[in-house]
Amino acid sequence: MSNRRIGVMGGTFDPVHHGHLVAASEVQARFDLDEVVFVPTGQPWQKSERAVSAAEDRYLMTVIATASNPRFSVSRVDIDRPGPTYTVDTLTDLKVKYPDADLFFITGADALEQILSWRRADDVFGLAHFIGVTRPGYELVDTHLPPGAVSLVEVPAMAISSTAVRARTASGLPVWYLVPDGVVQYISKRRLYSMPD
Ligand code: ATP
Ligand code: MG
Repeated sequence: MSNRRIGVMGGTFDPVHHGHLVAASEVQARFDLDEVVFVPTGQPWQKSERAVSAAEDRYLMTVIATASNPRFSVSRVDIDRPGPTYTVDTLTDLKVKYPDADLFFITGADALEQILSWRRADDVFGLAHFIGVTRPGYELVDTHLPPGAVSLVEVPAMAISSTAVRARTASGLPVWYLVPDGVVQYISKRRLYSMPD
């Protein structure tokens, strides 16, 4: 029997939006993945200039957004590990949880550009195959990345960012249809993003 194929979608998910969900769904289908695990980060080191919402809120919004898809799940490995999140630790923990699986780390064009600045960048390529997905406003390139380590995939263009969802909420503009309905309601219930970043 062949190995299980598990996609890993890391992100701050503050909040999760339809750009994340479309990218994960497209890669799931194109790479015939058994499952895509969304992994909300702990306190992210690249965003330390801004207060990121509580991990529990980001986790719950991700659960709400993915609950209806039988191939999507959410992992707590990063939010339960103290300190900032490094992808090498995420993948190492998931390898323990899924010892016989092949891991596919899904990342948008903007994050792929930064990959070489990651802690122990060389190690991460041994733990997972990387899949770079297109994102409006960013160029998808794999220059400087190890040959064969990364696949580039075009996904339906969703010009949505969590930053824009937060800004729209802070200024009273709607976020319906940018994020799943349950996430709109969760943002309102918990009064998230009422202040500008
Ligand atoms: P922020 O604006 O706070 O940075 P974001 O929208 O970039 O939020 P992240 O949680 O930072 O969302 O992104 C998680 C992953 O999803 C990253 O790999 C990112 O490149 C990818 N991603 C985010 N939005 C899109 C999108 N609209 N299309 C494709 N990929 C996306
Ligand atoms: Mg981002």
